[in-house]
Amino acid sequence: MAALSLRNVIKRYGHGPKANQVIHGVSAEIPDHEFVVIVGPSGCGKSTLLRMVAGLEEISAGEIRIGDRVVNNLEPSERDIAMVFQNYALYPHMTVFDNMAYGLKIAKVPVPEIKTRVDKAAGILELGHLLTRKPRELSGGQRQRVAMGRAIVRQPKVFLFDEPLSNLDAKLRAQTRLEIQKLHRELGITSLFVTHDQVEAMTLAERIIVMNGGVMDQFATPEEVYSRP
Ligand code: ADP
Ligand code: ADP
Repeated sequence: MAALSLRNVIKRYGHGPKANQVIHGVSAEIPDHEFVVIVGPSGCGKSTLLRMVAGLEEISAGEIRIGDRVVNNLEPSERDIAMVFQNYALYPHMTVFDNMAYGLKIAKVPVPEIKTRVDKAAGILELGHLLTRKPRELSGGQRQRVAMGRAIVRQPKVFLFDEPLSNLDAKLRAQTRLEIQKLHRELGITSLFVTHDQVEAMTLAERIIVMNGGVMDQFATPEEVYSRP
């Protein structure tokens, strides 16, 4: 079974005669553990597609499934996903541990289980020695890793990345890209990652969705996409 499937997904903004269709029937199946990157020029619909999977934008027609559930009408919190944003959006008054644990506490995961999951994620992300710090005491790279840790501990079916690297300086961007690669290697996270950066797409993707004017032009390996004349 696919981790994520899109079936003839359509998006219109607005209603009636003024409606503007921006996604024209996209279909794709993403199996468990696959890292898929969505690329394409500005305005082609990358972020709309991601936001529909996240439940931040309604879909106009078609079907989105996460695992075996149709999620068309589910709230973001009811979908088995975690979204990693550009800005870290950490809680400044909470420690690293509490930032990572917060979503699990809300979901009433038992405390020992929370501790196990946070410790494991902190180990992978090399945050173990920083669990009692506050975000302002961390470097940019460390904050970015806490944001990823917060997503990982929830063990979602699908990770959604909305251009998480685009506001970072070159050094931090390269570091964070390696970090995401490592997470994919070690945890096999199923990912949908939006970017307009070809280097990110080539280094991270197992397959690339090329969007153009609201249509899926290609869904193929980086080699196939970038060797085309
Ligand atoms: P990308 O992420 O590839 O830059 P978007 O998904 O942001 O593209 O936008 C796709 C199209 O949808 C664009 O034409 C954009 O102007 C339009 N669009 C995006 N968000 C809205 C909105 N909230 N209301 C109306 N039109 C929108
Ligand atoms: P990274 O390579 O992860 O970005 P840096 O080289 O920027 O890390 O930071 C190295 C060390 O300096 C880290 O252990 C971090 O905790 C500490 N540090 C960085 N910025 C700050 C800050 N604004 N306040 C306190 N400590 C900081």
